[in-house]
Amino acid sequence: MRMKVMKFGGTSVGSADRMKHVAALITAPGEPAFVVLSAMSGTTNALIEAADYLYKRNPEGANEVINALEKKYIQHIEELYSTNEYKEKTSEFIRNEFEYLRSFTKDLFTSFEEKQMVAQGEIISTNMVVNYLHEQGTRAILLNALDFMRTDKNSEPDPAYIRQHLTTLMTENKGYQIYLTQGFICRNAYGEVDNLLRGGSDYTASLVGVALNVEEIQIWTDIDGMHNNDPRIVDHTEAVHQLNFEEAAELAYFGAKILHPTCVQPAKYAGIPVRLKNTMDPDAEGTLVDNHLSHGKFKAVAAKDNITAIQIRSSHMLLAAGFLRKVFEIFESYQTPIDMIATSEVAVSMSIDNNSRLAEIVDELKKYGTVTVDSGMCIICVVGDLHWSNKGFETRALEAMKDIPVRMISYGGSNYNISFLVKESDKKQALQCLSRVLFK
Ligand code: ASP
Ligand code: MG
Repeated sequence: MRMKVMKFGGTSVGSADRMKHVAALITAPGEPAFVVLSAMSGTTNALIEAADYLYKRNPEGANEVINALEKKYIQHIEELYSTNEYKEKTSEFIRNEFEYLRSFTKDLFTSFEEKQMVAQGEIISTNMVVNYLHEQGTRAILLNALDFMRTDKNSEPDPAYIRQHLTTLMTENKGYQIYLTQGFICRNAYGEVDNLLRGGSDYTASLVGVALNVEEIQIWTDIDGMHNNDPRIVDHTEAVHQLNFEEAAELAYFGAKILHPTCVQPAKYAGIPVRLKNTMDPDAEGTLVDNHLSHGKFKAVAAKDNITAIQIRSSHMLLAAGFLRKVFEIFESYQTPIDMIATSEVAVSMSIDNNSRLAEIVDELKKYGTVTVDSGMCIICVVGDLHWSNKGFETRALEAMKDIPVRMISYGGSNYNISFLVKESDKKQALQCLSRVLFK
């Protein structure tokens, strides 16, 4: 379809002014666009906080959070609309929404109710924006994500269902300039309200883009694209103007917060470019993610915190066939994914980012050998064209790390990444050194 998907995150729609700005951005090109919106920033967190109170059987706590949130929305509406007609219309909608949210404080509360509550964040933001667009005279329509976004029995999106239902909706509603929908929310295989997990609006954008086979999927945030290092830690980072899908996936997974990792795969398989743009600086080039690979180039560095390294040493077991399988099965049975792995003849080291089952995992691993655990670690991931036939690249990355104690190194797993496991306390220095050596 000759159309772009434009997704705006919570900060981009975080106030009445920001919403007006988004409305201007999506209508300015004068071409049809499919717009995916997050909830206003802070809303999803507030709704989850209210839900937590309800799990703990504290309806007063939940009501307090809900009432405080409602106050903010009343203020936003006052600022967003210029006519009484739209102020009243949207106020009534907000009143009903918050009555609905309060109704959850009166009954039995389970994850089923929580998901309905949390979904209201995106339902509210999209209704506010579509009303604003109508007030401005734009031909806009809100398509309810709950009518076409669907996950299957494994909680994975169901692309065939999404394509079929969304295409039908688009054919039934031809001729609009702006099609709007909610990010993040969906129905599951049983038809219940569900979601694509935190940060899932990027995923919605990608799934919608693929379902409609659009020209481009744009993810609008508040930074001018993916940077070559963490701008909160390293001075003078620069936006990377182009990334291969694989490079973007590595960066998203290993810490670059700007793009949700799940967003990359559907776009990659469909070959639809993803463009990262800055709402605050729309003319900035941003980052284009597509199939192109810049040969022999380092692109960016990212870091992932809260990593634990686990080493198991076993003189007699390690060479035996099937030993690694046994080790992996232990992690699998505690639903703990492994990020990095390094092996030698007598020991194997792995890293995990979720400690919740660490004690049990260590207990089971002890049956096979001596186990040591290092916590407070961090993965530093260097991304670029790191195909093994390119000479000297790993040497340059290692050279940059020469003053930092490195616990593990992983290279050759993919063609796009070399990862170092270091102490969290060395993260800053590691990122700075890498920027200096690789991007100067
Ligand atoms: N509102 C949801 C969240 O805060 C989804 C998103 O913004 O991507 O996680
Ligand atoms: Mg996000």
